[in-house]
Amino acid sequence: MQTETYRQLDRDHHLHPFTDFKALGEEGSRIVTHAEGIYIHDSEGNRILDAMAGLWCVNLGYGRQELVEAATAQLHELPYYNNFFKSTHPPAVKLAEALCRLAPAHMNRVFFTGSGSEANDTMLRMVRRYWALEGKPDKQWVIARENAYHGSTVAGMSLGGMAPMHAQGGPTVPRITHVRQPYWFGEGRPAGQDPETFGRDCAAALEAKIQELGEENVAAFIAEPVQGAGGAIIPPESYWPAVKEVLARYDILLVVDEVICGFGRLGEWFGSVHYDLEPDLMPIAKGLSSGYLPIGGVLVGDRVAETLIERGGEFFHGFTYSGHPVCAAVALQNLELMQAEGIVERVRDDVGPYLAERWATLADHPMVGEARSLGLIGALELVDPATGERFPKPLGAGTLCRDICLDLGLVMRSVGDTMIISPPLIITRAEIDELVSLAGEALDETARRLA
Ligand code: PLP
Repeated sequence: MQTETYRQLDRDHHLHPFTDFKALGEEGSRIVTHAEGIYIHDSEGNRILDAMAGLWCVNLGYGRQELVEAATAQLHELPYYNNFFKSTHPPAVKLAEALCRLAPAHMNRVFFTGSGSEANDTMLRMVRRYWALEGKPDKQWVIARENAYHGSTVAGMSLGGMAPMHAQGGPTVPRITHVRQPYWFGEGRPAGQDPETFGRDCAAALEAKIQELGEENVAAFIAEPVQGAGGAIIPPESYWPAVKEVLARYDILLVVDEVICGFGRLGEWFGSVHYDLEPDLMPIAKGLSSGYLPIGGVLVGDRVAETLIERGGEFFHGFTYSGHPVCAAVALQNLELMQAEGIVERVRDDVGPYLAERWATLADHPMVGEARSLGLIGALELVDPATGERFPKPLGAGTLCRDICLDLGLVMRSVGDTMIISPPLIITRAEIDELVSLAGEALDETARRLA
């Protein structure tokens, strides 16, 4: 089929996620046809450097035959069976063991889901159930953060702190609240506050919220180590140590959403390891299978698992595709390849620091107010070169820059006027040079068009 035929059929029949349906109908879609390594190709013959690894997930890059073969072999052996009612199958068991071996030492159980959103729904039910079983049924409030993203199911959307999502689709799940995010630049670089003071202030806001609700009513605090979809928000160094101090004063659970940061993105197997956190639960997905097939889960720490197992009886919860055998086989192969190829160490010791060095050079561009990165996640804050401050909203500098990037052969995502990257973990130094050079060209062209 030709590009225009695809576009027309797409317009006529396909409602896309996170898309203005009407605008898409007018503009038409980019039809991605194939991919290899860190590059995607479209139906018009363009080769594009995918600096978002799909949606923060294609960690091993495109076209890995080992993953194709793992899926094919499992499809032949056992294409489907479930994990309900005391059944299981080898891929689910082997993946559970491998995950718990890689997770922090106190996390020895996993509940599988089909996605990160389902992982957060599962987590919410587990957390509330845990406290009920502990004889504290009032401990139901979950504190999350403004501008967080935890998924698109009703619970995921409620846990997330994205106002436009809350504004659509009716009431959110009760007893979820949000506190200030540690986003120094995004909060306007508050006058008189350096980032470290600001980070401690954000932790203090968490403590104030716990006190306002009453510790006896608070079940958990949920956060991503680095906020991804909110704008690749790397918290000030002071933030996590201060949050840990707050949490140590109260008996509430810590949920660290590792859907983006897990599986090497920050140069450790989990973002929790990078920030020295001891989560009670960790929702996971995306990089678990390098996005080749949909699979997620919740890693559960011993404290919660013991109560759920010893006192819980049957947990009335599960998905048809919880621990799907083909997805589990691919995830297992993905983890084995990551270990054999030292992918996590490579991010920590080689390409992560190299990206940091090269990305920082973009801070010299007059349109960039801040360039930040950690491991293989990064952001550029676009500003008006004339003032050094953010552009007035209607200009849409981020969207313009994103479209220019695509024309130049680079997928870089925009969140407002923040440009973000999260490339495949197999990216080479030469490819990082190409990425940074394309980003620089896109900034030049964006500046030219806005001048
Ligand atoms: N949690 C985080 C931190 C995410 O970034 C996402 C997706 O981007 C999710 C949860 C939801 O995952 P999924 O899209 O697989 O449902």
